[in-house]
Amino acid sequence: MENYPIFIDLKQQDCLVVGGGDVALRKIRLMRSAGANIILIAPQLSPDLITEFGDQVTHLQRNFEEADIANYRLITAATNDPAVNKKISELAQAANIPVNVVDQPALCSFITPSIIDRSPVLIAISTGGGAPVLARMLRAKLEAFIPASYGHLAQAMQKYRDQVKTLFNAEKDRRRFWEQVTQGPIAELFFSGRNNEAEKSLQQAIDNSKHNQETNSVGEVWLIGAGPGDPDLLTFRALRLMQQADVVLHDRLVSDDILNLTRRDADRIYVGKKRANHVVPQGEINQLLVDLAKQGKRVVRLKGGDPFIFGRGGEEIELLAESGIPFQIVPGITAASGCATYAGIPLTHRDHAQSCLFVTGHLKDGTVDLDWQLMTTPNQTVVIYMGLVGLPIICEKLITHGVPSDMPIALIQQGTTSNQRVITGTLASLPERIAGQEIQPPTLIIVGTVVSLQPQLSWFS
Ligand code: SAH
Repeated sequence: MENYPIFIDLKQQDCLVVGGGDVALRKIRLMRSAGANIILIAPQLSPDLITEFGDQVTHLQRNFEEADIANYRLITAATNDPAVNKKISELAQAANIPVNVVDQPALCSFITPSIIDRSPVLIAISTGGGAPVLARMLRAKLEAFIPASYGHLAQAMQKYRDQVKTLFNAEKDRRRFWEQVTQGPIAELFFSGRNNEAEKSLQQAIDNSKHNQETNSVGEVWLIGAGPGDPDLLTFRALRLMQQADVVLHDRLVSDDILNLTRRDADRIYVGKKRANHVVPQGEINQLLVDLAKQGKRVVRLKGGDPFIFGRGGEEIELLAESGIPFQIVPGITAASGCATYAGIPLTHRDHAQSCLFVTGHLKDGTVDLDWQLMTTPNQTVVIYMGLVGLPIICEKLITHGVPSDMPIALIQQGTTSNQRVITGTLASLPERIAGQEIQPPTLIIVGTVVSLQPQLSWFS
């Protein structure tokens, strides 16, 4: 190990900073947020430093002198004179005071790590001063992975720590209690920003435990948009919840690659639907979600794309809401967005389309029931979900309602997956072009002059 990691208490401790530029400003900002008293030596201060901390530091307006090395908790050298920085380092080390010379690891007796601040949770990353770019990259990754609200969870845990300690004598029982809190619905409430509700649930869980009851009697349902197919298009929240599931309800639109990202020992229930052949009727799915949650389970309902776009997500949560089951909804990338992007067809474009319409081309009694007039609006892109069977009728109707027969149209098969295929043509030619071909569902149709950009913008194959 290159260095020994510690976190140091700077509250009301005198710390010396030499240098008045932006580098010093960054260090002062951190030290001030940790509560340090700053003694700042510099002939001049940068305007930003004056604005931000002018009235919060003791400023000695002059050059550094040897006698300045006194009994400080920390010393930071941030001048633009290498000789001065070196001198400060030598003097501080001779006096056994921890010293940091910005960006010069060889002169430092301590280095400052990259941090992710979710106070009171603080994560520090160090590469021993040798590869700060790598540290910053790791930091960006962790920033994205660890919700800002971890801090709220940690604060609440701190607040209730003593109560829980008195409640459980055995260390292992305390640990189990906190594990349930940090991996269950209470943590999720914090992560989704519902802090008051979360704290109430935590208090409730403590009270329940007092009465020797189960801490988690009612489960929760998470309605999750899994995106159009490529697992990389899942959101962080989707992934986090999927990894906590006890049961997963899924259908045909959700690929095995995505299912395999759910918790390994979660039960899987297939409730898939094929066109006009409903495997499990919608009413039964709705009821199943309620029943499973009432058994205390954490239920993930995975939907292709976005649950609220042609996904019947609204119906599924209605019964949950009526039955008082806690639930969350996670948006996903809808097929229109995913397929268009992966096919190289911008849905809007300055020169082509200022609006975009999503419709379902589902056949009812052999016809497609759509607002044809609305679909002929110029400078508009029309995206048709579930339109493959109705495609010939759709093309014909658009032409009879006045859309030019040479209007470009694209059919995207299994968009964003390794089986993606894009077939383009015009309203007049596409139905015939695909008639002889074997097309694998799901497919999405895009109509509009934006489709003409596809050969040029195509990037994914
Ligand atoms: N909620 C989903 C849509 C469900 S309706 C969403 O937001 O995307 C099902 C229809 O979505 C399919 O018939 C097809 O038209 C479209 N679809 C979903 N995934 C697709 C994909 N990967 N490629 C092409 N079309 C897709």
